[in-house]
Formats: sequence, C-alpha cells, structure tokens
Amino acid sequence: MEDCIFCKIVQGKIPAVKVYEDAHAIGFLDIMPANKGHCLVAPKKHSQALTDMGDKDLAATILAAKKIAKAISLGLGNAGFNIVMNNGKEAGQVVNHAHIHIIPRFQKDRLRIKWSHLKYEDNEIKEYAEKIKKFI
Ligand code: AMP
Ligand code: ZN
Repeated sequence: MEDCIFCKIVQGKIPAVKVYEDAHAIGFLDIMPANKGHCLVAPKKHSQALTDMGDKDLAATILAAKKIAKAISLGLGNAGFNIVMNNGKEAGQVVNHAHIHIIPRFQKDRLRIKWSHLKYEDNEIKEYAEKIKKFI
C-alpha cells in the first residue's frame, strides 16, 4: 500500500520508535499517546481491519501485543493497560492499516475509556444474537 504510513514504518521509509519486531508483526510507540508508553502493534502485511487479517498475521500480532503489554506493565511500574482496536471509520479508525493499541494505565490517570449503557427491549437481545449468528 503506497500511501500507508504504517507500511512505510514496516519498510523503514519513515522513522518509528520500535519496541518489538518479528517476521510478521511490529510494535512501536504511538507518537500522540493517550498515556506515555502507549504502543501500537501491527501486522507487517497490510490489512485494513481485524477481519481482513490472515490467521497467521493475526496470531503473530496478538502474541506480540501480549509480549508488549507485559513489558509495558513491568517497565512502567506495574501499570495496568487497556487494549483497544478501532476497526472502520465509524469506530474511530484513522490509519487504515490494522493495529492494536496498548495503553498503559496508572492510578489516578486522567484517561477515561468508558461508555454509557443502553437497554434491550423485550426480546431484542435474542434478535441481535440471531442477526449475528447468521454470519458465524
Ligand atoms: P486509530 O485511530 O486507531 O487509527 O489510531 C491511529 C494512531 O496512530 C493514533 O493514535 C496516532 O497517534 C498514531 N500515529 C499516526 N501516525 C503515527 C506515526 N507516524 N508513528 C506512530 N504513531 C502514529
Ligand atoms: Zn499498510
């Protein structure tokens, strides 16, 4: 993908502060972090979203995320962490190369990753399950 900034990072054409690399995945610091130490993990092969990724790339990427999350936690003072993946512009994805955010969390940091809760009416929860199950 010619215009993809994360492909350019993978190819070494633009700089990134890397923390991890293997044959299929790469981990680097987000330049505009939600908390300091916020990392991104991406497959080396371009895919737009989670659902476009091959199983091998997906497995390598999630295993890399686990390694990096552990290192974030240990390296930044037993921090907690949130794992976030934005898929599609409706979900806030800006860079169209699939990536997982690992955001370190600290006691009393100011970050809020919370949503308000809706309620299902009557049988609605089952109807939603059916809509989803049709495509499993
Ligand atoms: P998303 O909204 O999930 O697509 O997030 C894209 C993330 O990529 C944002 O948090 C940006 O701060 C980050 N980002 C954009 N360009 C770069 C870059 N060149 N190096 C590191 N992180 C970047
Ligand atoms: Zn790409």
